[in-house]
Amino acid sequence: MNRQDISSIKALLSTTQNIVIVPHKNPDGDAIGSTLGLYHYLLKDHHQVQVIVPNDYPSFLKWIPGNDTILKYDSQTTKCAELINNADIIFTLDFNAFHRTGDMETILSESQGLKIMIDHHQSPDDYPTYMFSDVNMSSTAEMIYHFIDMLDDKNAIDSTIATCLYVGIMTDTGSFRFRSTTATTHRIVASLIEKGADNTQIHNNVYDTNSYERIQLLGCALTNLRAIPEYKAAYITLSQDELNRYNYKKGDTEGVVNYALSLDGVILAAIFIEDKKEGIIKISLRSKGDFSVNEMSRAHFNGGGHTNAAGGRSHLSLSDTVEKFISILPCYNKALNNE
Ligand code: 5GP
Ligand code: MN
Repeated sequence: MNRQDISSIKALLSTTQNIVIVPHKNPDGDAIGSTLGLYHYLLKDHHQVQVIVPNDYPSFLKWIPGNDTILKYDSQTTKCAELINNADIIFTLDFNAFHRTGDMETILSESQGLKIMIDHHQSPDDYPTYMFSDVNMSSTAEMIYHFIDMLDDKNAIDSTIATCLYVGIMTDTGSFRFRSTTATTHRIVASLIEKGADNTQIHNNVYDTNSYERIQLLGCALTNLRAIPEYKAAYITLSQDELNRYNYKKGDTEGVVNYALSLDGVILAAIFIEDKKEGIIKISLRSKGDFSVNEMSRAHFNGGGHTNAAGGRSHLSLSDTVEKFISILPCYNKALNNE
């Protein structure tokens, strides 16, 4: 996004606009934090604004200011479609291609509203009129801060906006520890706290509101953890039966893959989660250092993401998916063992 783009966007936002903001399917903390942060900012700037998510998201995100205003495309399709078709501007946040919004792909690609992408995933599609895409950014929430700054409007960031952006940065950086966390990230976080984000309370709301069953499910996942030391890899499986046993709710498996990555010496971690309803195995891949799980997911698991965190899916059975994962490791022997 260059200076010319910024002044065009400034001119555009100088009059009241109908704006829709959309994140990716199965929204995470960064998707919800960045969209609601931008929502409150644009609302303050006197626009008509609506956040539309493709589908539901975990309950540990449902306290964030503005949560109650969010519409869900899968259950409120007619209303959402009308808003999308009438939008002057559609901000697409935290994803790089329309197919990442699931069933919203068609309506978004056919919509006439001007598109502004703000995202930190690799290989962005070329649909937006204005693109702010940077894979070096810790989170889309951090990019919203930069975006507001580029509009010379940092003073507009109040405690509500700061709270939303803090959630996005905190969750996407694994609480400020992933490689994408920079000195600038910390400076922004410091400024968000100064503007009123209550860091202790936010951490508590997101991480310390577990159900008993979620912790039991984690116990099951850890029991299923397997290490493959010769490839510095480890993986976890969760079958549909196991999910059912612990009354699985959306978000319950969030972060579990990081336990595999926390094993000493492991630089590649995976979790395979059976989803009988969708007929797929949902895969999350994580890595340390230069090993690209984005590349691995694109090549073998119909997905993508970032160098150190990617998602994908498989139509094989759970055991066949694990077998496939193990069988491709020799192809990555050099990358895994030369680290
Ligand atoms: P997760 O494993 O938590 O689902 O995803 C890890 C990261 O990869 C997230 O940033 C997520 O947005 C991204 N991601 C997950 N699935 C896909 C996918 O199918 N394609 C792309 N490009 N990114 C994905
Ligand atoms: Mn993100």
